[in-house]
Formats: sequence, structure tokens, C-alpha cells
Amino acid sequence: MTRRGASLFTLSLETPPLKPPTSFRCVHCGLDVPVDAPGTAHRNHCPNCLWSRHVDDEPGDRASDCLASMEPIAITVRKDGEWVLIHRCNGCGELHSNRTAGDDNPLLLVRLAVKPLAQPPFPLDRLTLI
Ligand SMILES: [Zn+2]
Ligand SMILES: [Zn+2]
Repeated sequence: MTRRGASLFTLSLETPPLKPPTSFRCVHCGLDVPVDAPGTAHRNHCPNCLWSRHVDDEPGDRASDCLASMEPIAITVRKDGEWVLIHRCNGCGELHSNRTAGDDNPLLLVRLAVKPLAQPPFPLDRLTLI
């Protein structure tokens, strides 16, 4: 090995490359969540409880200093049929829409989707009169 090669090796030991975090801890249920999510570029909520954290102003920018927990409150559907989660921040009240991931808890997704029908603002019997 040449002297030059030896000095490069030493340099790489002194300045290890910075790696982005590979997981985050859910603020609601405490699960350690891998950042990689099937079907979406930015994992922004917990697949176990669907809660999120207010860290972004725009998706993926990590520019918000609010950092409060964000509750999943509703499901909406895009033109292409994709389900999107609506999160409301418990700190500042801001609403975010977030793509669902392939490993999101399907029971909780369906529970959110049918919630308005489970708690109707009028007796559903009235629909038979229309
Ligand atoms: Zn969670
Ligand atoms: Zn907030």
C-alpha cells in the first residue's frame, strides 16, 4: 500500500459520512418506525396508529418548528382512487394531507373512513323517505 493510500484511509476514518436517520419514534404509540415506506417517498406518519408529527411546512421539507403531534381525523380519496389521510395538528390546528403507505394499519384506515356513517348527524332511516 502506498503512503498516499494510507493517508486517504486515515482521512476517511476522521470524517465519516453523515447518514440520514433510518427510523423515527412515533409520538403517539412509541413504535420505532423505519423511514422507508412502501408506496410513498416520505414516510410522515406511523403505520401502527396513523398519528403524525408537525415537522413539515411542505411535504418532506422538515421546516416546521411546531413539532406537536398530529391526529389522523379523516380519509379522502383522490381522482385516481388513492386514499389520503387528513391530519390535524394538536399544537397549531393546521391540517395536512398525507398519502397512505402500503403497510398502514388497514383496520384503522377503514375505521376513519366509516366514522361519519357511524355517527350520522340525522337518523339514517330518513334516507328511505327520499
Ligand atoms: Zn404510532
Ligand atoms: Zn402544528
